[in-house]
Amino acid sequence: MNKLIKNANLLDGNTLQDIYVENNIIKKIAANIDINQCDVFDAQGKIVISGVINAHAHIDKSLIIGRKPYQDEAPPVRAGWVRELKETFTKEDIKERAREVIRMSRQNGVIGIRTNVDVDPLVGLKGIEAVLELKAEVRDMMDIHVTAFSQEGFNRFPETKELLEEALRMGADSVGGHTSMDADRKKEHIDTIFALGKAFDVDIDFHADETGRPDDHMLPYLIEKTINEGYQGRVNAIHCCSLPVISEEEASKDIEGIKKAGINVIVCPTAIATRRLTEVKKLLLAGVNVSLGTDNIQDQFNPLGNGNVFEVAQLLTYVQRFYSDDEQADIFQMLIQNGKGLVDVKRFSIQEGNKAQFTLLGCNNPSDIFRSPQIIEKRFF
Ligand SMILES: [Zn+2]
Repeated sequence: MNKLIKNANLLDGNTLQDIYVENNIIKKIAANIDINQCDVFDAQGKIVISGVINAHAHIDKSLIIGRKPYQDEAPPVRAGWVRELKETFTKEDIKERAREVIRMSRQNGVIGIRTNVDVDPLVGLKGIEAVLELKAEVRDMMDIHVTAFSQEGFNRFPETKELLEEALRMGADSVGGHTSMDADRKKEHIDTIFALGKAFDVDIDFHADETGRPDDHMLPYLIEKTINEGYQGRVNAIHCCSLPVISEEEASKDIEGIKKAGINVIVCPTAIATRRLTEVKKLLLAGVNVSLGTDNIQDQFNPLGNGNVFEVAQLLTYVQRFYSDDEQADIFQMLIQNGKGLVDVKRFSIQEGNKAQFTLLGCNNPSDIFRSPQIIEKRFF
């Protein structure tokens, strides 16, 4: 049955619009469409979006908390447990868990997930194979951007470099590293990831200064490298937890450099459980593109979560006091707009000729979105 959605607030500054859908394709968007013999739904001026973006996750190792109950040990100890669990993964197992994360995410209005997938001798290329297959399987409803990721570093597993090359040959969308993983060889780690990115002409993700320790402060080198390699606009820095712990002068210099290098910053608010979050307000004020990710979901790093990005957005809203209407509008942009360059979701835009896929929020104004993380009223299609 064809559908007519009346009185949708599409946040485009226009009056309320009607959306007419035939065979799941948007046929017409206009005020006061009058068509008989179709299902009519009145949105009553509430906000309708195509969906939200999860700019950072690890769907290959999500939902494993049931295999080893969480114990509150130091991060390196918990990382060791994940390494043990990773060795037991099969491709089907990874696929099954990642598919469940995709299902939960879709229920929460997500249309794009940028996921880092572990590549190392423990798990080999099983994660890449599984997630690339899922990417193709769900293409009609969601984009899964696959970053081949050196979670464990090259000191521990030097063979990772060849495996990352193979992952990129297999079709991984980008390559990722971790700026504080290889003690004493942090710059070499960054250089290796850049060399791979350039060799395959793909964008680069870094878990950047994730520990938040001043001795892991590698942002200045990452900025310098990005500019020197001509990779402006192609590098994503996840976490950047060093910014609140270094001096204000150093932080200002970094933020200026991040802007100049066109580095996108991805903040994962659940990190607040173990360290301080990056300086989101200062980054936004400097004009840096900042987006939001769930990061780990139900594993030894974070035993909670279900892929609901509104939930992590609300957490950030609390922790950094984004309480004014304008500030909350900024957070909403982080969810629906700022991550768009990190995933391929143009095909889901609400425009004539595109596939129909909408999320109706239970509010008329963006400032009401973060009153509850359960703001989704209805999903269409
Ligand atoms: Zn992560």
